[in-house]
Amino acid sequence: MNALAELPAVTHEQLKGHKAGIVWLTGLSGAGKSTIACELELRLRRAGVHTCVLDGDKLRHGLNADLGYSPQDRACNVQRTAHVAQLMADAGLLVIVAMISPYNEGRLYARSLVPSDQFLEVFVHAPLAVCEQRDPKGMYRQARLGLLPNFTGIDSAYETPTQPDLVLNTAETTVAACVQTLKMRLQQQGIWNCA
Ligand code: ADP
Repeated sequence: MNALAELPAVTHEQLKGHKAGIVWLTGLSGAGKSTIACELELRLRRAGVHTCVLDGDKLRHGLNADLGYSPQDRACNVQRTAHVAQLMADAGLLVIVAMISPYNEGRLYARSLVPSDQFLEVFVHAPLAVCEQRDPKGMYRQARLGLLPNFTGIDSAYETPTQPDLVLNTAETTVAACVQTLKMRLQQQGIWNCA
């Protein structure tokens, strides 16, 4: 008799004490995706939730370093990231993805990879003028100088989400308030049931 067969089956959810899922933050560069992802992760980790942040900018230095900014490459960038997020969610993590992900098709594809109650599309919204004024990485400035062609919002399209699960208006709301709203939405959805 195989000794392993006698062990009771244990799910990732039982092991970790919470559900897995993907929180997909989409929006223009400078809208606040990375900031909110980091703050949310800190708060969840403190509450004992096993998380991982997949930041689009960072992935472009590794996993997606071979990709450019053509529509095809952008689609591939999102697809690969979605697959990694799916694998991590399968392993029981609450994955927070922060990437522009400009096209509806890519975001729908990401949603299709996990059960519907385990995916939250969050539109991190700020008007282009506000994002450009913030310009946290100096990229809008470079784009306006013509040094960064195909920059989203300047000379490459961003398709506004048509049916996001949540909209965070970062031009009108503080980081803390955005994170609190997101946390409550996660609780509503039953992804995170900690007190
Ligand atoms: P993105 O990841 O979308 O490119 P970042 O998070 O890198 O954007 O930068 C957003 C900038 O906007 C940061 O400097 C952040 O401090 C600022 N900011 C102001 N208000 C908010 C808010 N409510 N939520 C997120 N970021 C905000």
